[in-house]
Amino acid sequence: MEEINLLAEKLCAEHKLSVSEYEFLIKNRTDYVTEFLRQKAVDIRKSIYGNSVYIRGLIEFTNRCKNDCYYCGLRKSNLNCDRYRLEEKQIVACTDEGYELGYRTFVLQGGEDPFFSDEVLCSIIRKIKQNHPDCAVTLSVGERSEESYRALFEAGADRYLLRHETADELHYSKLHPEGMSFKNRMNCLSVLRKTGFAVGAGFMVGSPFQTEKELSEDLKFIETFQPEMCGIGPFIPHRETPFAREKSGSAELTCFLLSVIRIIKPNILLPATTALATLIPDGRERGILSGANVVMPNLSPLAVRKKYELYNNKVCTGEESARCRVCADKRMQSIGYQIVVDRGDMKSF
Ligand code: SAH
Ligand code: SF4
Repeated sequence: MEEINLLAEKLCAEHKLSVSEYEFLIKNRTDYVTEFLRQKAVDIRKSIYGNSVYIRGLIEFTNRCKNDCYYCGLRKSNLNCDRYRLEEKQIVACTDEGYELGYRTFVLQGGEDPFFSDEVLCSIIRKIKQNHPDCAVTLSVGERSEESYRALFEAGADRYLLRHETADELHYSKLHPEGMSFKNRMNCLSVLRKTGFAVGAGFMVGSPFQTEKELSEDLKFIETFQPEMCGIGPFIPHRETPFAREKSGSAELTCFLLSVIRIIKPNILLPATTALATLIPDGRERGILSGANVVMPNLSPLAVRKKYELYNNKVCTGEESARCRVCADKRMQSIGYQIVVDRGDMKSF
């Protein structure tokens, strides 16, 4: 049998490969291998999660950011970004609306905005948990100190998303200005884990300077770090960044990597991301059909949606939260899956 087919079978049997084997797999994938791994990934996710899809209500509560990541539309050097920051009561109101819509996880995501000190964030977390003790709170607010992570966890936050962005130190330095470091990013992930959070890592597919080599390091990192969650989506340029003229990542490769990651860690919580849905109209469906088991519809107030522009033409910025919820339901039903009202914690297997 061809080497590539044997490698795909090895991945399914062992849930791991060497970095050079991952690289070979990505470079030499055929339609046959892609479909083979996709079906394996779907079988695995069905054996653990059935046809359930978990939803997370995404609240983009500030687009202010002190960082200057080269890829991101919220970077501080983008002076054409109309900045906003939601107040505690607006954030809490989003979760109340979300609860009615069947969400049992709220993801608070934002730029690194110093206004949201530990005191301010902890108060918001406590309020949400007080109103909705049966819900999980996920934070996605970047790099903070160990002490800060501990305070947020003790206030009741359950999970933390911090994409590693790339597992290659040199590549990391090409995506970020001096002052942001790969070592600190990786250290934050370890600290988050130690603190007690369920941790989400992840990366962009097709970011500038990325080759199959960097992607295979990302896969090795997922395999060894074993995050509870992994967010991957295609890179999409933003017109007001240094990467404005770079190409978008590939939806096909993103879906392939979703299948591979599902096989590497069978019970991982794996979203079909908004970036994938921005690149192709049926991105959420394609993501789920490649092995993802989470979708994250937008719960932010309509008035701020368009302002949280990480990349060009981000979808779902013109719809009321209730409509996003219905849309997600329809999309999942159309492919034989079912959104469930559940915190959606990682299952053991
Ligand atoms: N400030 C936080 C959370 C907001 S950014 C943080 O950086 O962790 C959330 C994610 O959006 C980032 O981790 C990055 O992977 C993704 N992102 C940013 N710009 C993007 C772009 N141009 N294309 C695709 N994804 C992007
Ligand atoms: Fe800020 Fe996050 Fe964007 Fe970087 S990716 S500029 S930290 S919002």
